[in-house]
Amino acid sequence: MVATLERPVTIATPNISFHAQGAFDAYGRQMSYLRISLTDRCNFRCVYCMPAIGMQFQPRDELLTDEELLRVVGICAKLGFTKLRLTGGEPTIRPHLVELVRQMKSFPGIDEISMTTNALLLSRMAADLKEAGLDRINVSLDTLDSDKFKAMTRGGRLDLVWAGLEAADAVGLTPIKLNAVVVKDQNEHEVVDLAALTITRPWQVRFLEIMPMEGVGTIYDEGLVTSAETQARLEAQFGPLIPIDAPPGDPARVWRLPGAAGTVGFISPISAPFCAHCNRVRLTADGKLRLCLLRNDEIDLRDLMRGGAGDEALERQVRVGIWRKPWGHGLAEGDRNIGRGMSQIGG
Ligand code: SAM
Repeated sequence: MVATLERPVTIATPNISFHAQGAFDAYGRQMSYLRISLTDRCNFRCVYCMPAIGMQFQPRDELLTDEELLRVVGICAKLGFTKLRLTGGEPTIRPHLVELVRQMKSFPGIDEISMTTNALLLSRMAADLKEAGLDRINVSLDTLDSDKFKAMTRGGRLDLVWAGLEAADAVGLTPIKLNAVVVKDQNEHEVVDLAALTITRPWQVRFLEIMPMEGVGTIYDEGLVTSAETQARLEAQFGPLIPIDAPPGDPARVWRLPGAAGTVGFISPISAPFCAHCNRVRLTADGKLRLCLLRNDEIDLRDLMRGGAGDEALERQVRVGIWRKPWGHGLAEGDRNIGRGMSQIGG
């Protein structure tokens, strides 16, 4: 079921060295996209993301301060990163979010800031975030059935999320993308209703294969629905999907329902991994540079900063981390992400 990765035989393309301009890894991939977890806390408890009870959150003094966070963003901007995504946990519960967005956008080279959110609090923040420089949002939405939504998020209110989504659309946090994790026996039949949203709206509804994450028990082993299965379900309802070229680096394979205003995407880390084109690293809320979502390799930046390191040392640490980014996740070889859940890493 898990597809293997084609691993390159040589490390680094001949003209790429550790000292090259820009942030390259040893396989010649250039990193330009930083995903930042603003907090490990969340106001939902999605079944595939967090355990129902017993979630351990980190003490606040272990999380990066605003100043530390901005310092890392500044270093990454200098190294050629152009794109930031704010995530979590739930990014909208981070204090000073609007001001953080404004300051991140002021770094030369940062062209785009997007945010992945559950949208629960978005209706009252959307306009301020847009004004501060947030470009667009992805909203996690696994079902349009409010009872099912409540069950999958363990208490979430779909009407408030929908209001947040509409507020974001109204202020132009667009193009809007919706993320639905498809889970067997939970929402696999709802994909048709979710995809139908794109018929009249210029949104992209993306279907994600569930990934094995720490803290959520056996839901991955029992719940995986492959993108091929989801696509077959959509085609049985709507007819053949029309392929669309996705921008380079986009992990989604993109299609359009016949005659639709928007598009649907499939993100298939399990059945069709996209590691060869990976251009991203993650910054965890506690200041670790996480080199691959599904591997535990991390480089500590927080303690380096708190130990008084200057910008040159910090930049070097970021480059060292990126250089040793793993080729890909090791799911096919049986490696499992152990230790950190998705909400702690920043999905
Ligand atoms: N709280 C925000 C939200 O709900 O969008 C941002 C954080 S959430 C961890 C980021 C994304 O990770 C969401 O789109 C969520 O669906 C996805 N996610 C969480 N656990 C996952 C898993 N086990 N497999 C695949 N995607 C997962």
